[in-house]
Amino acid sequence: MRPYIDVHCHIGMTVSRAPVVGQSTDKCLARMASAGVISAIPCPTAGGPQAQGVVDTHAQNKVIANACKKYPERFPIGLAIVEVRHEQAGVEELDRAMSEDGLVGFACHPGLSGHSLGGELHAFLEIVATHNGLCLLHQAGSTQNIAAYAQKFPTITFIIGHVSMNKAGHMDAIAHCAKQENIWYDIAQKPDSADESWNIKHLVENLAPHRLMFGSDLPYYDFRLVQAQLESANLDNETKDAISYQNAVRLIQQFKPDWQPTLTKINPPQQYTEEELWNANGARLL
Ligand SMILES: [Zn+2]
Repeated sequence: MRPYIDVHCHIGMTVSRAPVVGQSTDKCLARMASAGVISAIPCPTAGGPQAQGVVDTHAQNKVIANACKKYPERFPIGLAIVEVRHEQAGVEELDRAMSEDGLVGFACHPGLSGHSLGGELHAFLEIVATHNGLCLLHQAGSTQNIAAYAQKFPTITFIIGHVSMNKAGHMDAIAHCAKQENIWYDIAQKPDSADESWNIKHLVENLAPHRLMFGSDLPYYDFRLVQAQLESANLDNETKDAISYQNAVRLIQQFKPDWQPTLTKINPPQQYTEEELWNANGARLL
């Protein structure tokens, strides 16, 4: 199988829904090793513990910073997470995570972090803009707001997470974001039922072939289903390699110019059974 780089990967626990779901750094590495993923851009899980507020967010950001420090060849850059309700305390934690821990921006999940991709994110985006950083924004509803952010904050690089989970989102991103060069995309959770009016080939031809990337959305999703779709897509090998890892290499090098991918398989620090790694209900990992 061709190499894969995962630009949408969560480490930590989502506790705000039942059953809880999550993964440690080591389990993440074991899943990557098991499925041909050579590197990832990690961020905390949304919906993580919040009993202590921003103190919890700080701890979650530290997990990502530590993973990047310990495995720089596999986690070359990482993202913090933001909770809109933390307001200025959250903005300061983001600034700290970027300045002190070397994280390059943040991930944000509208449903789980209490915001609507509107002006409430501006204070966080200003911090990332100052650092010429990266934001992973999960698609929820229209991408028009993300296109507006991309225009307002041209020094930020955006990734729209799971841009093609359904046909409406897929078409919406093509309509609003295709011309915006600081927006990149991942194909996490793309269902294999898509017909040619919105399959991967359609996305390549209508959105942004040089900014389209693989994403796993670990620990929620059996991403091997997306890999199988890409492998069988009616695209040439060069295009498949671009989506599976080469576009991601270019993205990562924007933030870490000297980084080169390690193409050999990961040697995971812990051993897990196949059942522990891939037990799922349909496409949903348990
Ligand atoms: Zn996600």
